[in-house]
Amino acid sequence: MSVHEKIEVTCPSCKAVQLFTIWNSINATESPPLKTRLLNGDLTMFRCEACGESTHIDYPLLYHDMSRHLMIWLVPLDAADKDVNSCIERYLGAIPMHRCRLVRSRNALIEKILIFDEEVDDRVMEFYKMIVQEALQERGEFKGTLFFEGRNKESKEKEMVFTCISGKEALSWSAPWTEFLSVADDIAAMLPDENKELGKWLTVDPSYLHELESSYKPS
Ligand SMILES: [Zn+2]
Repeated sequence: MSVHEKIEVTCPSCKAVQLFTIWNSINATESPPLKTRLLNGDLTMFRCEACGESTHIDYPLLYHDMSRHLMIWLVPLDAADKDVNSCIERYLGAIPMHRCRLVRSRNALIEKILIFDEEVDDRVMEFYKMIVQEALQERGEFKGTLFFEGRNKESKEKEMVFTCISGKEALSWSAPWTEFLSVADDIAAMLPDENKELGKWLTVDPSYLHELESSYKPS
């Protein structure tokens, strides 16, 4: 079920107060149009009726894809701890067979959705991105964070596209999809059994990989 409510938002530009619909949860299986609006940014976009200013509003949002047994919980970095804890408690333990992910930004939520839509293990993609990022930095080509944007339709999905974000700068970077597939199995073999991580709210980002690295003991 998708759940929404209206809240009062103060326009950051002209300070006019206006009602804005926020979605506490989105069921992508039951409401595909909501998923489309989330992915294209429309769902989180506040448009001031007084001055015309447009700005994204970040708020806690639970994304549920029943067909993929997937839940992604967006808790913005500036969300109050009590909100975060009450939300997590509400869903904790109720979803044992789901992959559960915690993300802290809208970009990260959208990236996760796009990764799982490609039926890719996000832990593998995170690992792949780390390798690419290190290579780009070593060659002096780019310093910043990569976000997976899906496969390029114009290349008949043979290319995968990333956005590289560094501060306010963003540029596009692409690579053959087969390049990812050629290393995906080897990466997956190094990761913990996915079934053992079902039902746990994991933050799969560089910190997840660093933790794996530090707990790894060569036999
Ligand atoms: Zn305004």
